[in-house]
Amino acid sequence: MTAHIIDGKAYAAGLGDKIADSVAAFTTGTGRAPGLAVVLVGSDPASEVYVRSKGRMARKLGMESFEHVLPEDTTQAALLALVAELNADDSVDGILVQLPLPRHLDSLAVVEAIDPAKDVDGLHPVNAGYLASGLPGLTSCTPLGCLMLLRDSLGDLSGLDAIVVGRSILVGKPMAQLLLAENCTVTLAHSRTRDLAEKVGKADIVVAAVGSAEMIQGDWIRPGATVIDVGTSRVIRDGEKRLVGDVDFAGAARKARAITPVPGGVGPMTIMSLMHNTMLAAYRRAGLPAPQLW
Ligand code: NAP
Repeated sequence: MTAHIIDGKAYAAGLGDKIADSVAAFTTGTGRAPGLAVVLVGSDPASEVYVRSKGRMARKLGMESFEHVLPEDTTQAALLALVAELNADDSVDGILVQLPLPRHLDSLAVVEAIDPAKDVDGLHPVNAGYLASGLPGLTSCTPLGCLMLLRDSLGDLSGLDAIVVGRSILVGKPMAQLLLAENCTVTLAHSRTRDLAEKVGKADIVVAAVGSAEMIQGDWIRPGATVIDVGTSRVIRDGEKRLVGDVDFAGAARKARAITPVPGGVGPMTIMSLMHNTMLAAYRRAGLPAPQLW
């Protein structure tokens, strides 16, 4: 068997077109565009690239982008004051504080200070609680993007056995909650899990979110499974720098029915889910029914 390659880039582009249409309708209806505020503290080059691309994508889809770049030595009080200002600003529908923050700042306190209705990264404990309770909230972007790809690839997920490898607040835990809400039977694996290969081998859906290059071997995969690879690791292969996932892609592609590549799978979905959440937050805050785009 050779797996179908799930094209996250193409899916994200199609979703982007739909988001742009919803943004245009919102702007016509309310007289203002949805607004996304992105806050960067310090000058980490990778974070600068992420922040710039989020701003660029928001503008491309017709939203307002507010970028706040603060110096490395910003105090907790100053950052919290900016978050409070953005919470109170009606032109801002989504607030994203780029993580990781410099070590002297308390990330959890900053995330907790964001109005949950504007928490487009879906990391506020209130939004995590809504997800766990099956209530509408804002969902962490990467797992939301993974779910969109799974639904697109498999349709109804009801009754399927799913394993999520990795239990971070950012990816693994919300992913497991989303799959549970889709009526999957979910195993949530982590660094203390015993017999991981055997557990992976029983799953119809494998979501890998560890950050360990190609740790999930191809021959672990159950024939016909669907594999979503969230992991990204930079490695040197044959003298060349490459980005690889948590899954041995070539080996897994021989057994799976469908698999995401790295890059070009989950990555493009993360930023588009952020755009989706910002559009959703804008509609909800305006008291309008949010369009169902996926
Ligand atoms: P994280 O916070 O470091 O969490 C990693 C998880 O993997 C932890 O729960 C850890 O278990 C588990 N783990 C570590 N070693 C393991 C092992 N040998 N067997 C099973 N589980 C193991 O990472 P994260 O933020 O969730 O990110 C995971 C990966 O996804 C990273 O490569 C990151 O770069 C990537 N990522 C990509 C995107 C994207 O848009 N493409 C977005 C977000 C993240 P414990 O809890 O027991 O320590």
